Amino acid sequence: MRTLITDCRIVTPGIDLANGSLLIEEDKIVSLIPAGSPLPAADRTISGSGLTAMPGFVDIHCHGRNNVDFCDGSVEAVNTIARGKLEEGVTTLLPTTLTLPEEELRAALDAVAHYDGKGCKLPGVHLEGPFINVKCCGAQNPAYVRRPDIEEVKRLNAVYPVKKVSFAPETEGAAELTAELCRMGIVPSCVHTAATFGQFKECYLQGMRNLSHFCNQMTPLHHRDIGMVGAGLLKSDVYAELICDKLHICPDMIALAFQVKGADHIELISDAMRASGMPDGEYTLGGLPVISRDGEARLKEGGALAGSVLQLNVALKNVAEVTGLPLSELVKSSSYTAARALGLPGIGKLEPGYQADVVLLDADFRVMKTFVDGELRFER
Ligand SMILES: [Zn+2]
Repeated sequence: MRTLITDCRIVTPGIDLANGSLLIEEDKIVSLIPAGSPLPAADRTISGSGLTAMPGFVDIHCHGRNNVDFCDGSVEAVNTIARGKLEEGVTTLLPTTLTLPEEELRAALDAVAHYDGKGCKLPGVHLEGPFINVKCCGAQNPAYVRRPDIEEVKRLNAVYPVKKVSFAPETEGAAELTAELCRMGIVPSCVHTAATFGQFKECYLQGMRNLSHFCNQMTPLHHRDIGMVGAGLLKSDVYAELICDKLHICPDMIALAFQVKGADHIELISDAMRASGMPDGEYTLGGLPVISRDGEARLKEGGALAGSVLQLNVALKNVAEVTGLPLSELVKSSSYTAARALGLPGIGKLEPGYQADVVLLDADFRVMKTFVDGELRFER
């Protein structure tokens, strides 16, 4: 089956084509056709007039949506989130777990293993915790924090592939864990940490090149020890996840991160919890009560930020407004950079041979259509 999306703006890393057309055959991109060129025959033609086509978004840090959480451990929750994410243009997602007992993590991964496959793609999971610094928990439950244990990761990886493990580099055994994860082809990442720059470097030497929700629950920049924020700014080969809701990180810090690191090493994430895509009200995160109001999700007790309700299309709109950088550059941060950091081939660009994961947005970044592997799976 050949699908032709006509007369749209096509934005992909390094390319911004006005009034172009996109030819898809089965699950692959075949060609980008500039305005004025003859159009090939197709089985289905979809008008993209007034819309912008971009590579489907890759969200590598997401806990939930539509009032459910991956840690609910139910297949219905997985199916609901994976369908809901299509509404924000996400075509590839890493279900992300919380700091919980191993039995609960196992149940969450088992539910992902039984996903019906009708929403976005779930190539593996992201374990956020449980090997974090108990003093930097944020909304993670300190009761379940434990020391790095590669055997636990191996047991979970046998239930469903683990793509990324986020932990604190100052915990005992973190450098060994980094090395072993790299050997297994799993991406190690720093999170919920009070590490010094020196402690980070011990893991960096073993292959650590990722920082999860950069700046949040992380040692701030100080001029006598640049800490984890300094590490992210200094090391140009380190990838940084950013929650660009203009709340977890202020607009000036978003601008600074893009100026220093560039879109080649920034990954837009939602870090969304179950209140994402839902009306304001009371929800939970890891069993703790959370109030969601006006785009902010905070713990009822103490008021700490408890994940976000951010959606990826809004994150991209925010960074476009804040940085003023061209979309053909920023679009890396919503898909290709994450795919590259995770080693997911054929994802994140609208180029011949790439997977036909395509999102069509209106001028206000509202998602109008989402294609996964060439299949139209969401339409507004
Ligand atoms: Zn976190």
